[in-house]
Amino acid sequence: EGGIHGLLPQKCQVMVLLNPRSGAGEALHLFTSQVQPMLTEASIGFHKFVTEKHNHAWDLAREEDMSKWDAVVIMAGDGLLHEVINGLMERPDWKTAIQKPLCILPGGSGNALAASLNHYASRSHVAKEELLKNCTYFLCKGLHAPMDLVSLRMASGKRLFSFLSFGWGFVSDVDITSERYRKLGSARFTVGTFQLLTSLQVYKGRLSYLPAEIQSSASSSLPPTGMNACPSPQHPPHQVSTANGKSPVNILPQPASSLLKEDSVLEDSLLVPFEQPVPKHWTVVPEEEFVSIVGIQQSHLGTDFIIAPTAKLFDDAIHLFYVTAGISRMGMLKLFMAVEKGNQLALNSPHVHYVPVKAFRLEPLEPKGFMTVDGEVLTCEPVQGQIHNRLARIIGG
Ligand code: ADP
Ligand code: MG
Repeated sequence: EGGIHGLLPQKCQVMVLLNPRSGAGEALHLFTSQVQPMLTEASIGFHKFVTEKHNHAWDLAREEDMSKWDAVVIMAGDGLLHEVINGLMERPDWKTAIQKPLCILPGGSGNALAASLNHYASRSHVAKEELLKNCTYFLCKGLHAPMDLVSLRMASGKRLFSFLSFGWGFVSDVDITSERYRKLGSARFTVGTFQLLTSLQVYKGRLSYLPAEIQSSASSSLPPTGMNACPSPQHPPHQVSTANGKSPVNILPQPASSLLKEDSVLEDSLLVPFEQPVPKHWTVVPEEEFVSIVGIQQSHLGTDFIIAPTAKLFDDAIHLFYVTAGISRMGMLKLFMAVEKGNQLALNSPHVHYVPVKAFRLEPLEPKGFMTVDGEVLTCEPVQGQIHNRLARIIGG
């Protein structure tokens, strides 16, 4: 696998995006006191952009001249990286922009990717400033590797890219309702869990998925129909150049070749429109009452939440977990405690299900609670998504 890893140049220049309101609001202080001296030592030059509002990092990532930077460093929680990735994917040059090495330095209350990278590097479990130190050390070493992204499509037409997770039900509601305890750092999720355990809710919906194992044989037999089908078989799916319905018409006079390049969008070759039922080779979950659904691409959903211990940075899978209704509060408490060590499947609970998938669709039968993507809130509506192998690059150990 040596060829797929990369190394930052010596004396590199990095763009640092820092959210001063992340977590307990200490990101700026931690950057100056902990990170900056290590960067100086490693001859890494940087320019710091302090975000001023929600989605500021999204705009900066979309507009910035990326040729100036060897890497984009996010000193914040997972939410800011989510913005950066989506900003990069909105650029006309998204194909090259999304390959810019990214780096996460944990400064938020949700530092799942940092914890996952620490885990992949076989480092002992750490949090807070120790985790920050490890991640800063990764940056100083400069080694980067591919990372999978998920393309999510909402029934409303919205499209988002996700590096971490999609959720509905208990786990998402904990994430969003605990925002008010941001000052507690990652302990906010424990407080939120105990609070929501007092009135366990059921979420009704239809969940379907394409299992990871059968994907290669099944996709080749897919008929070329639907909004995301390849227009001609000689094009690999990632280079299809038909614009989707949402792309603005480009009216600038340009040579045909650059028009083609700029208008190309990333196709979701495994998905069919919401009006159509999922393809026949997909699995439709028989249960329609859930306590929680989580699709995760990395091992950790938080520093102390190891949802998918076997997940890797670019394993081309969404690790789908769902908890069906009927689980007791004690069962949920046991689950919560097991997730701290990643032992939840050893509980052998008939309500806890796990399957690695390439794509999924979730159709809520009632709009209830929050949906989340990478810890950021979405309105509850039908959603489907698929994995895109190695779409981004991330600096790790
Ligand atoms: P946390 O892990 O604590 O949630 P994040 O970095 O994920 O921290 O950021 C949380 C939210 O803060 C994101 O939605 C982001 O858009 C928003 N944000 C960024 N900069 C600011 C700012 N200056 N003031 C308020 N919110 C901000
Ligand atoms: Mg967040």
